[in-house]
Amino acid sequence: MLPSSLEIALPAWLRQELARAAAPEATDEARMAFVLGLVEAGLRRRDGGPFAAAVFDGEAREPLAAAVNLVLSAGTAVAHAELLALALAQQRLGSASLAEAGVRAVLVTSTEPCAMCLGACLWSGIGRVVCSARGEDAEAIGFDEGAKPADLEAALAARGILLRRDVLHQRGQGVLRAYRDAGGPIYGGDGHDPGV
Ligand SMILES: [Zn+2]
Repeated sequence: MLPSSLEIALPAWLRQELARAAAPEATDEARMAFVLGLVEAGLRRRDGGPFAAAVFDGEAREPLAAAVNLVLSAGTAVAHAELLALALAQQRLGSASLAEAGVRAVLVTSTEPCAMCLGACLWSGIGRVVCSARGEDAEAIGFDEGAKPADLEAALAARGILLRRDVLHQRGQGVLRAYRDAGGPIYGGDGHDPGV
């Protein structure tokens, strides 16, 4: 029997964290602190990769959706935090396009999107992407960002998506280094040597 459904569930600790955490103020910095707090919660539990993302609607404080990287626990390379947050928000609103659902969506992500998540952003109907760590920060600890346009800002702008980088950048770099220093597994990409 071929598989007929895709199961990717947020871990119980993340659902508890999201239920407990106060919704952030509607600023990029407060939203990033919320997202980085999810990464740090995962690090404390030594569960999942060092990435988290959330989707917000305009100035609304409650996120539409939030997720962490679940590649290892879900057993699929597509379970990146940004992709999951976008998919959860879209399914919540019942629309494959957040813009068509009438949402001025902002994706807040702990590390800027990899090649796969950049594609997900382009098709998602979001209006802005806000990042903390840079792709090179993830690559510096061995993760693979894939083939991305040299000018990420221009690639997003061509689809009408604004990009803001380096929000709480040091804290964003810090969670990546903390993950590496704790011996967290590096995965993804084509299996080449980390850091190359
Ligand atoms: Zn990704």
